[in-house]
Amino acid sequence: MMTADTTDAAYGATLTIDLDALVSNWRFLGRRAGTEAGAVVKADAYGIGIEPAVTALNRAGCRNFFVAHLSEGIRARKAAPEATVYILNGLLPGSSGIYAEHGLSPVLGSHEELLEWASFRQTGAQVRSAALHVDTAMNRLGLWPGEGLNLAREKSGAIAAADIGLVMSHFASSEDEADPANARQIAAFAEIAAAFPDLPASLKNSSGHFLKDCPSYQLTRPGYALYGGNPTPGKPNPMQPVVGLEATIIQTREVEAGTQVGYNGRWTAKGRRRLATICLGYADGYPRNGSWTDTVTGGSALVGGVTCSFVGSVSMDLIIVDVTDAPEGSAVRGATVTLIGGPLDLETVGAGAKTIGYEILTSLGRRYRRHYIGG
Ligand SMILES: *Cc1c(COP(=O)(O)O)cnc(C)c1O
Repeated sequence: MMTADTTDAAYGATLTIDLDALVSNWRFLGRRAGTEAGAVVKADAYGIGIEPAVTALNRAGCRNFFVAHLSEGIRARKAAPEATVYILNGLLPGSSGIYAEHGLSPVLGSHEELLEWASFRQTGAQVRSAALHVDTAMNRLGLWPGEGLNLAREKSGAIAAADIGLVMSHFASSEDEADPANARQIAAFAEIAAAFPDLPASLKNSSGHFLKDCPSYQLTRPGYALYGGNPTPGKPNPMQPVVGLEATIIQTREVEAGTQVGYNGRWTAKGRRRLATICLGYADGYPRNGSWTDTVTGGSALVGGVTCSFVGSVSMDLIIVDVTDAPEGSAVRGATVTLIGGPLDLETVGAGAKTIGYEILTSLGRRYRRHYIGG
């Protein structure tokens, strides 16, 4: 007989996404910058779902969205028909027609892209204005600063033909305020922005909002912090949590000292332990590097409010947790445990899996029951 909520029982784990917290994080960053905040919603809005995220932010007044791929831009465009949607990865050869069809804006990152876009515009195609990306540190995407300055000087040239509406650059290490690269990037971009006095400019990602002596220009581009990630690692998190993850215990058992647990017996009980098996695993996006072996520490879950470490390998659909220290009655068949939430914030979960909170967020699986609140 089914007594539990059938919807819950049909899934191993539930992802709760607080769209009100997302919106208030966006407002907070805009206030902090003292300028307009855009929203970076690439990678399915960092795993929380591009449609709900864009819809909620657009309703709250967000007018500028950034994604990585055209396919993501098409989805963002449907959710926010009037907004400007920038494609950070820029113009792939021959893709201008798709930009025109969906009213998307490429972030042009090379001379070749700029010329291709300009000549497409000259065919009379109806397109939105593009952004120009100048690379001030990353050596990844964007024009060299010198190329940017040269373009600014030839006023009637490619820049005018391409109808550029924004000039931007991206921080390489803004989460580390002690990194001297920040000041160098701020100075290099100041020169670029000054060379294009008529164009709005954009520099700040999430952590950029918390750097000293960094102008906000006309538009900021937060991603991670919108979703509750800590833009000031090592300091208290100023953002509200957006994502919570809970899974159900399906079995518990007691094991004696010397018992090996999980695939390949990589964890051995040092004493009598109580174990619980929960139904989520690496196929749900929980990194296998969260495995806890005899030699390597890994991830943990909150059981009855107590942090309990994983045991053995994270398997495809299951994780075993040492619940010996969990409060009486909290680690029973059918009970829920927390994988993301409270003290298990994105940074802590990332560290337990030898990665960063960004990767935890963007890996959030499709198999969860997704429960959206607010928005
Ligand atoms: C991903 C990205 C951002 C957002 O960075 P966060 O650190 O998540 O705030 C901003 N700008 C560019 C160009 C990006 O690629």
